[in-house]
Amino acid sequence: MAEGEPSYAVQRRSQNGQVWDSVKKTAFVLGTGLFIFAAFRNSVTWHCQQFWGASGDFWQAQWGKVYDVFEGNEMLLFCLGTMLIPSLSFWLFNAFLMFSDLTGKPQFITKYRIQLGKNEPVDADKLKHAAITVFCNQIFLSLPMVLLMYPVMQWRGNPCGPELPTFHWVLLELSVFVLVEEILFYYSHRLVHHPALYKHIHKKHHEWTAPVGVVSLYAHPLEHIFSNMLPSMVGPMLMGSHVATIMLWFCLALITTTISHCGYHLPFLPSPEFHDFHHLKFNQCYGVLGVLDHLHGTDLVFKQTKAFERHILLMNLTPLSQSIPENTKKSK
Ligand SMILES: [Zn+2]
Ligand SMILES: [Zn+2]
Repeated sequence: MAEGEPSYAVQRRSQNGQVWDSVKKTAFVLGTGLFIFAAFRNSVTWHCQQFWGASGDFWQAQWGKVYDVFEGNEMLLFCLGTMLIPSLSFWLFNAFLMFSDLTGKPQFITKYRIQLGKNEPVDADKLKHAAITVFCNQIFLSLPMVLLMYPVMQWRGNPCGPELPTFHWVLLELSVFVLVEEILFYYSHRLVHHPALYKHIHKKHHEWTAPVGVVSLYAHPLEHIFSNMLPSMVGPMLMGSHVATIMLWFCLALITTTISHCGYHLPFLPSPEFHDFHHLKFNQCYGVLGVLDHLHGTDLVFKQTKAFERHILLMNLTPLSQSIPENTKKSK
């Protein structure tokens, strides 16, 4: 034993103390966690469950009606649910954003612009070209992929069955979809940033250094298949999901990716700063959630920026370019 080190007994006592201390801390954290979980389950999910199921089995009744109309033509039902409804919600939202980008109206939206001075107004021809490419990607790639997905889903179970999944099961499935999306999107996205692939495939998506909503699906065909479609399709195939769950997931995924490209950091919506920064700097922020970027250190430059400070859920009406302006010292 080196000089000055405590005796074995003292060391042992202090180790025991540390162990006991960490046991107490762990018990406290777990106990608090369980308590919060129980409280959360009893209030939030109770209300959601009410909305989903017990509200007179409203959704089940609606689904029953749809099911009766389409019975015998489940493939059509599958295509409408996974293709038509999500695409309509995508284009509805994007029509509104394109109007704002072209006209600068309503000012309520445009004052939340992230990259000030960009797309004010947007280049109409460039926007038209992007919108046409996106439409072609959906018709010639997304639609055939969804048609091919149908037999896989049939093999996994009964995707268009008469009974809707429970609320808790849908929540669990959505969590799995998000995780699968994060993993597959992060690595496929990093792959297309490899110099050998970038100039042939991913450069197209990055023509927009200040993106707008519709650019979310503006991509080379191979990128659309492997980076946009497959990461969101694998989750439902793994879980053998119901078409209603897939429809909800595709709508959520399309609206979320539109928000992350829209160029406006709007109140009460998820922050688009992370992916907007990717378009600005190319070699940062590859993922969706940011978990894998944190693990791989591909967000280190981002974390030094104003964009990172602004990467929050905006809970008031003051634009972040005003509340966290560009030229002030970084607040601690
Ligand atoms: Zn992008
Ligand atoms: Zn990229």
